[in-house]
Amino acid sequence: MGRPTLSLVIPVYNEEVVLPLLHPRLQDFLTRLALPVEVIFVNDGSKDRSLELLRLLAAEDPRYRVVSLARNFGHQAAITAGLDYARGEAVVVMDADLQDPPEVVVDMVAKWKEGYDVVYGRRRLREAETFFKLLSARIFYRVFAAMVPITVPLDAGDFRLMSRRVVIALRALKETHRFVRGMVAWVGFRQTAVLYDRQGRAAGQTKYPLRRMVRFAIDGITSFSIQPLRFSSYLGIFISVASIAVACWAVIAHFLLKTTVPGWTAEIVMISLLAAAQLLMIGVLGEYVGRIYEQVKARPLYLVDDVINTERAPEQDDLDPTEPN
Ligand code: UDP
Ligand code: MG
Repeated sequence: MGRPTLSLVIPVYNEEVVLPLLHPRLQDFLTRLALPVEVIFVNDGSKDRSLELLRLLAAEDPRYRVVSLARNFGHQAAITAGLDYARGEAVVVMDADLQDPPEVVVDMVAKWKEGYDVVYGRRRLREAETFFKLLSARIFYRVFAAMVPITVPLDAGDFRLMSRRVVIALRALKETHRFVRGMVAWVGFRQTAVLYDRQGRAAGQTKYPLRRMVRFAIDGITSFSIQPLRFSSYLGIFISVASIAVACWAVIAHFLLKTTVPGWTAEIVMISLLAAAQLLMIGVLGEYVGRIYEQVKARPLYLVDDVINTERAPEQDDLDPTEPN
């Protein structure tokens, strides 16, 4: 089999209502693009009829390939699996829910042909997303930018085109907690953006409830920054200085002012403040220690249950990203 020019990687988790909408849009797009394209659906342990639908689609169109994971490994792991199986000269990652319109890929391909290695979709408008999601995303990307030494484009998700050498470079990054958009920024090469309006989900519900969003944000920051650890040290220093001041005050109050008994409130306040600060900092430490633990275990990032229209083994890299081309 020859190498397709473009691979589309689409993670799918419980998207049975979206797939029937996605299919015609994709077919339209594939006809219009007129390039050799493969579409890799990564079924991330869907519990609905998604896999069944994907089987039907893949039986109809040999360009559709399916990699079905053994359980739900999460969005970022599903993307990783897709990148591992992608054979294209360029690879585009997009959501199944049509929030990333396939038509924008045409612009991405144009930029790629101009010689860019990474073309990310930058959201101009975000229609039909909740106020909370918009606000939290805005705050997160700003906090992230302030903490992290690499420049991750603001307001861009995982919708992006990557050249093959970027994909191969990404495969070489073996981290367990993956924040793919940050890793792509870390890789470097020539990067640019195309603007697009992000529509609402075509159907179904978001698979990112608040709990997952928080976890994702913490993964993002801890994968790229040790600022939170440093912040704990700074806070520790500040509290130490403050406690020395309080100790001096206590001695003075005892010996000179002789007003020690009414100090109870201050004492309680100090104790709870210190306990809270310590617990918080232990928590921050724990986040990193936990990640070290999981990294050391070095479990595979995902397990493949079944594949359709594609080889069982992931792509072999016959290209060295560290060599200039
Ligand atoms: N997704 C996945 N595994 C998960 C959660 C989500 O593969 O555990 C997929 C989902 O099917 C969709 C994409 O990741 O194609 C983005 O998810 P979603 O649209 O729910 O996120 P949102 O756009 O609301 O941030
Ligand atoms: Mg979505």
